[in-house]
Amino acid sequence: MKVLVINAGSSSLKYQLYDMKDESVLAAGRVERIGMDTAILTHEPTGKAEVREVSEILDHTTAIRKVLGLLVHKEHGVLDSIADIEAVGHRVVHGGESFRESAIVTPEVKQEIKRLFDLAPLHNPAHMMGIQAVESNLPDVPQAVVFDTAFHQTMDRNVYLYPIPLALYRRHKIRKYGFHGTSHMYVSRQAAAFLGRPIEEMKIVTCHIGNGASVTAVKGGRSVDTSMGMTPLEGLMMGTRSGDLDPAVVPFAMGKEDLTIGEVSSMLNKHSGLLAISGMGDMREVQDAMENGDANAKLAFEMYEYRLRKYIGAYAAAMNGLDAIVFTAGVGENSWLLRARTCLNLSYLGVELDPEANLVRSKEARRISTANSKIDVLVVPTNEELVIARDTYELVKK
Ligand code: ADP
Repeated sequence: MKVLVINAGSSSLKYQLYDMKDESVLAAGRVERIGMDTAILTHEPTGKAEVREVSEILDHTTAIRKVLGLLVHKEHGVLDSIADIEAVGHRVVHGGESFRESAIVTPEVKQEIKRLFDLAPLHNPAHMMGIQAVESNLPDVPQAVVFDTAFHQTMDRNVYLYPIPLALYRRHKIRKYGFHGTSHMYVSRQAAAFLGRPIEEMKIVTCHIGNGASVTAVKGGRSVDTSMGMTPLEGLMMGTRSGDLDPAVVPFAMGKEDLTIGEVSSMLNKHSGLLAISGMGDMREVQDAMENGDANAKLAFEMYEYRLRKYIGAYAAAMNGLDAIVFTAGVGENSWLLRARTCLNLSYLGVELDPEANLVRSKEARRISTANSKIDVLVVPTNEELVIARDTYELVKK
């Protein structure tokens, strides 16, 4: 079965085509600047040259039509016919309390995703456009949805509620949901498999550190706490997001600076984090600047590492123990420096990093702690698309 995986944003759309026979990727690509007359489609067919097209793509339906055209293109294609695509899986950011697992798209499921627009106003409407665009191009192909929040639905009530009037939870479902769930689930399972231990008996902290970043406490294979909250703003300091701060800062800054709700939200989501402190939102740039003696970059890095380390310690406490720490995503997989600094300060837990292993670059899961370390520290490349393809395949097979 060939499964097309789609991650639709408001003005972009990423795709990967899987052959589930061997879980190989036949093609991948993305459409950027949807809505403009200079939209860019980048198509990477496996084993063939990359294609880049600039053209007018005003909506997601047109974007999908162009992608499908390339997938069966004589020269750049990888399929004989569009009919070879037997299922489509979508990433959906917010599943609220309605979705504890992935689901086949039905009118009821679409209705529920729409009901959740309120909780994820930037993401869910875009995912819905993706679903509808596939419907209009491939009306007979079953679709599935895989939620970033689903893995965290196992959190207990005392963990997911905020200590604010309960009416806000009852009326508006204000609570912690958590995100990056697909990634936290995947890397925790990969880590247990790598170590040859039953995940049911393990306490793992998974650190998904990309532009967005979150830490999860995975106990017995279940998410018991995670650093992101009702939205992906809570928790760690990120590329452009503040993460945790005193909630009183918000009304205070709004008053002092005469900011609207939209402005303060934009400040916290797009102009905070590494960017606010160093002027750079990208960790690679921050590290390069730090190497060249930039004091603000150094400060930003130190704040970032400190906040990450605090969460790892907090989750060791939350689980009353820790067997493994897993680093994943852009920064987690690539920044040996962040891993080294973080682990250096976790020696009280018995963490001992192997400096040479920490420098190894690889696309495979690997251990970076010493044989003596009380806690295994691993780098596990994440693969959210593969999880979406697998879930879609399983659901459609049924
Ligand atoms: P997203 O959250 O958008 O999926 P990624 O997981 O791709 O992001 O992570 C992007 C981040 O990873 C960027 O901040 C980038 O600078 C960082 N990154 C990538 N390679 C390195 C590297 N070698 N060293 C440090 N940071 C890196």
